[in-house]
Amino acid sequence: MRLDGKVALITGAASGIGKAMAERFAEAGAAIAIADLNIAGAEATAAELTAKGGRAIGVAMDVTNEAEVEAGIDKAAKTLGGLDILVSNAGIQIVKPLHEFPFADWKKLVSIHLDGAFLTTRAALQRMYKSGKGGTILYMGSVHSKEASKLKAPYVAAKHALLGLAKTVAKEGAEHGVRANVICPGFVRTPLVEKQIPEQAKTLGISEEDVVKKVMLAETVDGIFTTVEDVATTALFLATFPTAALTGQSIVVSHGWHME
Ligand code: NAD
Repeated sequence: MRLDGKVALITGAASGIGKAMAERFAEAGAAIAIADLNIAGAEATAAELTAKGGRAIGVAMDVTNEAEVEAGIDKAAKTLGGLDILVSNAGIQIVKPLHEFPFADWKKLVSIHLDGAFLTTRAALQRMYKSGKGGTILYMGSVHSKEASKLKAPYVAAKHALLGLAKTVAKEGAEHGVRANVICPGFVRTPLVEKQIPEQAKTLGISEEDVVKKVMLAETVDGIFTTVEDVATTALFLATFPTAALTGQSIVVSHGWHME
């Protein structure tokens, strides 16, 4: 599963799952643009990859800002020599009951997940079509692309919507050699999840240990968290897959929480 000569831009890659994908793709030979709101973190990750012999740059990007997305993808393509792979991964979580969900929080979350996916997709497709080489787009979905959980209305709605976006990209992109797929992880112990454990304990009136056992991992086959490495391996498999036999699809990586 090699990516020699390929250029990948990964959003939200200063932390968690995005960072692990950046590391795995760099090991496989790709040049990486680490696009993140957290530019210090993006630069630090790029420096780590460069120190290991890879080619990587940090790119300042708020994925909800059209001008920043355009400028960031332009910088990445010009500096690294094109764009072959986009991973739309940046995301946040806000946990509150639906009947009192603030509209501002709804809009913020949906914008990061969906506007961010759209804006990065549009900018990437323009380059992938123009180059004549096609490319691959991966969306970071979730088991919440397939199932609902209490307290996560905008997240569940946005993650379901990414399936529709990927299917549309698969259809429009096919004649240009562009594939699109969605990765749907179960719970992965990143900062995004660590933050939710005390929040959910408070809202549900249970212990933090019970949030992990009875909420997060209750439906898995073995009570084990999915890891960032599990997700990065799946991403590499999808990114290196050679044909459009795999496009418009979603893969659940979750220790059996949700089976298709
Ligand atoms: P994380 O908090 O570790 O990393 C998220 C990154 O996104 C951070 O570096 C943050 O700075 C960046 N980011 C946030 N808002 C941004 C914006 N507007 N523009 C650019 N960058 C922004 O989280 P993670 O757990 O690694 O999550 C990554 C993706 O994986 C998210 O889409 C999340 O929904 C998804 N996911 C996570 C889990 C999990 O259990 N951790 C499960 C399924 C799906």
